Parts: sequence; structure tokens; C-alpha cells
Amino acid sequence: MTLELKMKINLISDTVTKPTPGMMEAMMTAEVGDDVFKEDPSVNELEHKVATMFGMQSALFFPSGTMTNQTAIKLHTQPGEQLICDKYAHVFNYEGGGVSFNSGVSCRLVDGDRGMMTAKQVEAAINPPDFYHSPLSTLVCIENTTNKGGGACWDFKELEKIKSVCDNHQLGYHLDGARLWNALVAKGENALQYGNLFDTISVCLSKGLGCPVGSVLVGSEEMIKKAIRVRKVLGGGMRQAGFLAAAATYALDNQLERLAEDHLKAKEIGVLLSSLPFIKKVESIETNIVIFEIDESFLTSEEFTNKLLQKDIHIISMGQGKLRMVTHLDYTNEMHDRLLSILPTL
Ligand SMILES: *Cc1c(COP(=O)(O)O)cnc(C)c1O
Repeated sequence: MTLELKMKINLISDTVTKPTPGMMEAMMTAEVGDDVFKEDPSVNELEHKVATMFGMQSALFFPSGTMTNQTAIKLHTQPGEQLICDKYAHVFNYEGGGVSFNSGVSCRLVDGDRGMMTAKQVEAAINPPDFYHSPLSTLVCIENTTNKGGGACWDFKELEKIKSVCDNHQLGYHLDGARLWNALVAKGENALQYGNLFDTISVCLSKGLGCPVGSVLVGSEEMIKKAIRVRKVLGGGMRQAGFLAAAATYALDNQLERLAEDHLKAKEIGVLLSSLPFIKKVESIETNIVIFEIDESFLTSEEFTNKLLQKDIHIISMGQGKLRMVTHLDYTNEMHDRLLSILPTL
């Protein structure tokens, strides 16, 4: 018996990571206070740091990415209005119907490519503002990288074109940047470009960056002042949250650039999968998400997932026959070698 046989490989999401020793140390030694009174120095430091990275006036720490997006949507809309997003958008598919629950807003879904719309499609989705029979369009939500779209990165030029559409039609412009860090690293982009373009941006710290908890919303001082009230209403005001914020500051300083390793591993998995006879299709891989389909004349997706499970390798189904693997901080070189050696034997 080798130790190797006991190695659990968890590729269901990049949210499964646990704090690294350095991050633990930063958390244990964090200076904290009551953040509901804005008296937590570690939270204040993180908020200042993220606002500065994006060149935005202000930032606010949240317990989850869902709450960050939901708060932003609440700030940009009134009940009865409509936001425009891709049919794959997290805000539409995976936030429990919060768009209607929290804001009383509907979603106009655009049939984009891998979760990405064109400026033309966005413009065509806007309801004429004086046609009072339709909901008033007031917000465009973008997702970068796209989750359901397989970690795809937007062409920044298209985002600029959509910004012009928003300006011409007085629409808010929100970025769900849960995995924006991955796009920045993959495309050599800068957070400032994004801060310059969007009204509000949400980023997750609990995914590729490896924090146990946390997201941040950035925007103007006025927006963030309103966001504090919405966060309170949603129950997201936290007390000594500095222990969590310290993890985030540590991650931004030490675990951002390494995302390139996750991207490389995802690409290597994709290359191998493409060469296997029982794989029907692998979607193109730009960051840390691998989405693929099994050729069911060989075996079903369920059989494939179960075979992996027998080897203690965990992956997830995205529905419609699509399977997903996500690489991350806790997916080591050793695990990677093991996965690459097992896949061809299934
Ligand atoms: C994970 C994710 C979120 C937020 O999810 P939480 O689990 O609430 O932190 C938002 N948008 C996208 C695209 C995501 O992948």
C-alpha cells in the first residue's frame, strides 16, 4: 500500500481550498475590531487595498459573492425593472432567484457565446424606455471569467463597447468578477482598466485566491455608502471580520500570481482529455475551468464520474451532459500527475 492511494483529489470547484500556513498565520495575528462600527483595522485595510487596486473610491467586505452581486443589483435597480445578462449568468442561474427575491427585478437573457454577449446583442435587449408596457431596462451585468461558460475571458474591447451602450441608454454597468483575478492573470490585464469601466465590481476571495470566506464590492463612495445599508438588511454585517479580511490581504499579496499554475494544469488536463476516445468534446480552456462531454456510446457521464470517485477523484456535473473540473491552490503537482495517469485507464 502506498500513501498515494489515499490521496483525495477534489476538482469540483476552486472553493474547496483550505487556508495555507502563511494565511493561517496572518489570520491568527490579525488586529480586529467591530466592523459593524467600521472599527476593524484589518477590514478597513483590505477595503482600502482593493479600492486602490481598482482605482475606485470605496470598497466593502462581504461574506459571499452572492451577497455582493445581490447588493449591487439592489443599488442599480428599482422593483419592476429589468437587468440584461447572458443566459449563463451566475446572477440568474445560481443565486437562488435573488434577483427577484431581493430586488423585484427580472432578467432579460441574452444568447451569448460561452457566457459572453456582444455590444450589439446588449443594445438589442434594451426595452424602449418610453414603451411603458415593458419593464424598464436599467442594468447590464457582465461575468468575467464566465463560470458556466468554462472560465472564458472577455475581449476587453467588447466590454468597452458595452460600456458605450450603457452610457447611451443610461444603464448601470456591474461586473460579477468572482474570478476576475483569473482573467487578469491569464490576459495580463490590470484591475485599474476594470475599475475605470464599471460602476460596480464584485470580486471573490474564496475561490482561486484560497480564502475561507469573503468577497469585496468596489464602487463610488456614494454607492458603497448605500451598499452598507443593503448589506445590513441582508444580514451581512459582521463583527470581528478582520480575521477573514487578513486572509484576503495575505492572498492578494501572496497567492494571486500563482493562478497561472492553475491555468497551466487545466490546459494540460484539457489536452489529455481531447486525446481520449471516450471524450466527445472539451471546451476551450483559458483559465482554471475544464468543461467537457463524454461520448456516451463508450460510457455514460455518470459511469465516468463514478469510476473517478472509486479512485477518490471528485468532479461535478453541470447538467446537459457537461462535466466540470476546476483546478486550484490545493490541487498539487502530485495530484495532477496522478489524475493524468488515471484518466487514460478509465
Ligand atoms: C462563485 C460565484 C459567485 C459567488 O458565489 P458565492 O458562493 O456566493 O461566493 C458569483 N459569481 C460567479 C460567477 C461565481 O462563480
